[in-house]
Amino acid sequence: MKVFVKTYGCQMNVHDSEKLLGVLATIGYNPASSEEEAHLVILNTCAVREKAEHKVYSELGRLKKLKKNGVVIGVCGCVAQKEGKALLERMPFVDFVVGPRNIYSLPQVLEEVKLGHRVVKTHLNGSCITSLELPILRQDPYRAYVTVMEGCDNFCAYCVVPYTRGREISRPSSEIVEEVKRLADQGYLEVTLLGQNVNSYGKGLGEKIDFPGLLERVHQVEGIRWIRFITSHPRDFSERLVKTIAALPKVCEYIHLPAQAGSNRVLERMGRGYTREEYLDKVAMIREHIPKAALTSDFIVGFPGEEEEDFQLTLDLVERVRYEGIFAFRYSVRKGTRAAQWEDNVPLSEKGRRLSQLLQLQDRITEEVSRTYQGKELDVLFYSWRDGVLEGRTRTNKIVTVLGDKRHLGAIKKVKIEETRMYQLLGTLAQGGESL
Ligand code: SF4
Repeated sequence: MKVFVKTYGCQMNVHDSEKLLGVLATIGYNPASSEEEAHLVILNTCAVREKAEHKVYSELGRLKKLKKNGVVIGVCGCVAQKEGKALLERMPFVDFVVGPRNIYSLPQVLEEVKLGHRVVKTHLNGSCITSLELPILRQDPYRAYVTVMEGCDNFCAYCVVPYTRGREISRPSSEIVEEVKRLADQGYLEVTLLGQNVNSYGKGLGEKIDFPGLLERVHQVEGIRWIRFITSHPRDFSERLVKTIAALPKVCEYIHLPAQAGSNRVLERMGRGYTREEYLDKVAMIREHIPKAALTSDFIVGFPGEEEEDFQLTLDLVERVRYEGIFAFRYSVRKGTRAAQWEDNVPLSEKGRRLSQLLQLQDRITEEVSRTYQGKELDVLFYSWRDGVLEGRTRTNKIVTVLGDKRHLGAIKKVKIEETRMYQLLGTLAQGGESL
């Protein structure tokens, strides 16, 4: 039996797809490379923006033709959780709708589908679904995602995540450390600790531990060379965390710190819980203790009530921080969020103008920051090889390509940067082989 999983959205969804494939492998499903060869097709969806949700419905419309071959079609992820039964009503050819906290009930769901039932599983009960016993079919043999917590309690005014992924629950640290040990035994060099807001890790756990404490424990695992984490919330990004990152050599100097906006008026309406001054202070603290740190961020333009001067403050913040890159989007109304009650009063054309102005500014900065890598010798973990070209990433998460032999795959090598491009660095393998 073959299954084809199409993944949309964030790293949490990418890792959830690995869990989906893992649990389906236990009942005999193997990954298919295309929907045409699959007996089961699953869309693992994202609901963070209107556009993302529309994509799901147009994709389902396209998949409908597969029903004549008896293919089972299912929807998972945040749109499944958000829409539930309504999605089945809207798409009568869809067989099941399973939310992010119900991934491991898929074998039972497929049994019910075999009996001709159409199934909705979208409970958000209090237990963390990720555990050591549950299978994960990882897609990368060198770098692994590790869930440290699920859900989010922040309820930012524009965001559906707290409604689609439930309340924050942290995994016991012993389980996380054990999972990382098993990955190291399998030869993994890099782990990325995953959560909607990793900085509030530990809340509600029986043991007294916070995220810096977890980093220290994961850092002790032999064999793991690099540790990354995503996503952080600026309000909870503490001095203790910054000093811990600075003190632990395996923790990479890459920090994704979503600001979302540069104006205090908009930040307050969003319910972000920090001011631009506090955000800039956190950036200054990071730069002081981790001088090589690469920062990226998320931004929303055209939030209800955002005036031109508010937007100018966003541009000013981006100019001051000089991110290595940003993910920027037009505000879109998300049903069920606080902001959905407010008038979406920034015209679409104006949102578009602001978005392109912001991206233009960031492109200039990204290019300038990229140029600072010229001539440097950097450690790069190579994870793909094609036609004599190795691709990898630096500790600051920059993509690097070099000409080289595939025996360097899965190794951390020193690379001399010869040429810089906006989103990529080109280099040569430095003499002397493996970086120590
Ligand atoms: S912190 Fe805010 S934006 Fe991020 S997932 Fe939670 S509610 Fe959404």
